[in-house]
Amino acid sequence: MSLSTKRIASCACGDLQVATTGEPEKVSSCSCTDCQRRTGSVFGVTSFFSADQVEFVSGAPRVFERGADSGNALSMNFCPKCGTTLYWTLKDFPGRIVIAVGCFADPEFPQPERHVWAKRKHHWVQFPDGCSLYDEAP
Ligand SMILES: [Zn+2]
Ligand SMILES: [Zn+2]
Repeated sequence: MSLSTKRIASCACGDLQVATTGEPEKVSSCSCTDCQRRTGSVFGVTSFFSADQVEFVSGAPRVFERGADSGNALSMNFCPKCGTTLYWTLKDFPGRIVIAVGCFADPEFPQPERHVWAKRKHHWVQFPDGCSLYDEAP
């Protein structure tokens, strides 16, 4: 992987797409109940990019604003046609765009270096060596 690695993240129907250049600053996974409900899966996997690494390719997202247990405020951008939440921004981390890792559909995407809200983790979920677990958001 190099600084020039390019990836496309897409919603399920393909209307909403963003492109990234370079590697994510951070890859994290989370078992909080908001991530479980956002994904419909038992945990969310998220990648943090600097805004200047992200290009908005297509689509007009709708925005769902919500608070987080940490006190942060999130603006969740989702496709109005298929409902996929593709990316979001956090009030406490201006200049960052968080993209749902599954939307890259890239099995070679870097693994999460940390898993947060492990106390809400489904009992059967296990993470690989090199992934730090935190009971809540650190
Ligand atoms: Zn869509
Ligand atoms: Zn979460």
